Amino acid sequence: MTDVTDSFTSPAPAGLLHSVLWTVGLADRFVRRPSPLGPVFVAYNRSGVSACSLAGPDGAEDFAHDFATRFGRPVLADPEPPRLLLRHLDAALAGAASPLRYDLRTVSEFGRAVLAKAAEIPRGQVRPYGWIAAEIGRARAARAVGTALGHNPVPLLIPCHRVVRSDGRIGDYGLGSPAKRAVLAAEGVEPDELERLAARRVRFVASATTKIFCHPTCAAARRITEDHRVMLGSPAEAVAAGYRPCRQCRPMPAPACP
Ligand SMILES: [Zn+2]
Repeated sequence: MTDVTDSFTSPAPAGLLHSVLWTVGLADRFVRRPSPLGPVFVAYNRSGVSACSLAGPDGAEDFAHDFATRFGRPVLADPEPPRLLLRHLDAALAGAASPLRYDLRTVSEFGRAVLAKAAEIPRGQVRPYGWIAAEIGRARAARAVGTALGHNPVPLLIPCHRVVRSDGRIGDYGLGSPAKRAVLAAEGVEPDELERLAARRVRFVASATTKIFCHPTCAAARRITEDHRVMLGSPAEAVAAGYRPCRQCRPMPAPACP
């Protein structure tokens, strides 16, 4: 006679267990996609995209192990990834804006504010750590902004690579500084040019005709012709010379409310 408890004690197929965990948000699935830095693994669950990392030499097994260690949830390759999701992922990995949702449950409230602000920086542009800090109302927290960006669980998708040092140099990146330069170059930023401006202590550029000053990579700044371009070292210098801040790239913090 068969013991009725057999059906409870024998292990369930891994796929079935994963499906159950997936349904309640305790497991993720992943796909492999191309990116400007080579193939990446992207994980997601029913709340949103949860992780993105370079596909290392040890491949999917390594990724699944690292994911489980970092997030405490199992992740399995998705045999049938939704087509719409793939389309949005590919657009975001190519640097375009996308309507993807993210699962940032392991990120602090401050970290989520930093990542949300970084996500606003358009492709082909960069902003300093201090800009993010000022924009989220934590002007003195530029260093903490750098730390939060370094822990971005979805690099490339949320473009932490578009945030540079407050002195204008390219700076660190979770995937390494050369990778940061490479992905910025793929998006149309010239890292060498930014480093040259930083070395000359140029932080902002202004138009002598419109009297507006910008971050150097702002779309408006790029339209300034050579003859009318003025190089500036600080917002104070710009204001003293009669320039006002660009409304698009907001190169100086808005005055605090009284
Ligand atoms: Zn601007």
